[in-house]
Amino acid sequence: MEKNLPNIAVIGLGLIGSSIAHAAKQNGAAASITGFDHSQDVRNEAKQINLPITLTEDICSAVIDADIVFLAVPVGAMAEVVTNIISHLKPGVIVTDTGSTKQSVIDDIQPLLPDSIFFVPGHPLAGTEFSGPSAGFPSLFRNHYWLLISDDEMKHPVAILAAFCKKLGAMVEVMDAEYHDKILAITSHLPHLIAFTIVGTASDLEHDLKNDVIRFSASGFRDFTRIAASDPTMWRDVFMNNEVAVLEMLQRFNEDLSYVQKAIRRGEGEKLYSLFERTAEIRRSIIDVGQATD
Ligand code: NAP
Repeated sequence: MEKNLPNIAVIGLGLIGSSIAHAAKQNGAAASITGFDHSQDVRNEAKQINLPITLTEDICSAVIDADIVFLAVPVGAMAEVVTNIISHLKPGVIVTDTGSTKQSVIDDIQPLLPDSIFFVPGHPLAGTEFSGPSAGFPSLFRNHYWLLISDDEMKHPVAILAAFCKKLGAMVEVMDAEYHDKILAITSHLPHLIAFTIVGTASDLEHDLKNDVIRFSASGFRDFTRIAASDPTMWRDVFMNNEVAVLEMLQRFNEDLSYVQKAIRRGEGEKLYSLFERTAEIRRSIIDVGQATD
């Protein structure tokens, strides 16, 4: 490492991968940044926008000198990427991923890695509905949590990675995978599922009605359409890889929805009022902890 800064490699140059490159460059967090994406179009786009990264034409050249390797591909592609890079990694390298599910990625990757390679699963809680290299920007992680998965935050590779993520502006928390998957199921996966479903329902309406839904789209529906515009590959993989936690939260949600449905049918306005009062309180708490920004 040069001046104690790591050489980093980023595999997958979409929103998250390109943002890691931008943020590392802007914050002077890396001695070198190499990157690879399996799509030639993505590599061309990265070149065109001058993504601050040394692009390689093959995946092995990207990782060969790396001290930290970031896997920023859809969770269903993690194992394939690790299989392709494994024999080209330096002993002592830290491999981390940015995937939105954690237990599935650990199950897929951990058995492939020898003891000489440290795997620290991670998940930056920052994103937008856009994908591809042009969607990335340097401040994406600023003041957002970056969750790392470990049973010991004092472990050397965890501490090194945490320090790196903090340099990108993130706040780091260490937790276990099962807890992560449960929390994310309710805070991210279920809301996305609801958005995909509600926009799907609107798109199944008969033609005239559908046109007016789009024309008179008010903030509620418009907000759902923003979330529902997120990358289909990424989200297919999330639901295929966190099914236990998502189904558990969906079950609870269905029960709560039935409660609301019953209250409306029975004209029990006070029940609705007290629920909405409680939910407004949650919104205030999110604002209080500074997590209300996009
Ligand atoms: P993205 O914009 O779609 O970028 C992913 C990139 O990885 C694409 O360019 C994709 O190319 C490429 N890729 C796919 N398979 C590959 C492979 N085998 N080898 C090399 N490159 C490959 O997705 P993203 O939003 O950056 O998400 C990346 C990861 O971060 C995902 O695991 C996601 O769950 C996680 N994450 C996303 C967000 C978010 O809000 N978007 C937030 C936090 C974490 P092709 O598209 O051509 O296949």
